[in-house]
Amino acid sequence: MKIGVLAVQGAFAEHLRVLRGIGVDAVEVRLPADLDGISGLILPGGESTTMRKLIHRWGLHQPILDLAASGAPLFGTCAGMILLAREIAGGEEPVFPLLDVTVERNAFGRQLDSFEADVAVPILGDGPVHGVFIRAPVIERVGPDVDVLARLDDGRVVAVHERNVLATAFHPELAGETRFHRLVATMAAEHDDPGEGSGRRPHPTRRTARPAS
Ligand code: GLN
Repeated sequence: MKIGVLAVQGAFAEHLRVLRGIGVDAVEVRLPADLDGISGLILPGGESTTMRKLIHRWGLHQPILDLAASGAPLFGTCAGMILLAREIAGGEEPVFPLLDVTVERNAFGRQLDSFEADVAVPILGDGPVHGVFIRAPVIERVGPDVDVLARLDDGRVVAVHERNVLATAFHPELAGETRFHRLVATMAAEHDDPGEGSGRRPHPTRRTARPAS
């Protein structure tokens, strides 16, 4: 089982390192052919405007939508979350409208450009995730089928899940956190082998994401 990390720009190297560290075969995705045989995809942080351009220029847009429609898990962190949002505040066109949320880019403003915070993420178990927020977006609207996975103390939503799509406003990969990557690997394995573990409760991510029309 292989998991791809979109490597057109941004903080992809740490995601590859975390995946390899937990024993997952991880590959850089720059061209459509790099998506062959992968069972999940991570969209890293970076600059979403640049990533958007390169995704289109390098012909990755439709192949990534097809991967998502197959039910393979997608996990976006920070700019990666912006790429997955159905709506971007201010009216920018969405890139992969797979997650029924509205995100606001650079939501923490200049004074609080970057900060770190411990965030409780109950589906990952006890012990908070140490989140690194770098010019981070925030989720300002959550659709009815979206699960909120984490909020800041002030109530702002910073991690969500809908079907086979996960997203965080922060970078979990920069602080030695591996639980999100383990969850993505589990979702990818279940995508590859839906019969695996039959008899167990179906995984809540089994439903397949479809782009909004
Ligand atoms: N500010 C970036 C954007 O809007 C996201 C920053 C990040 O990914 N760390 O695209």
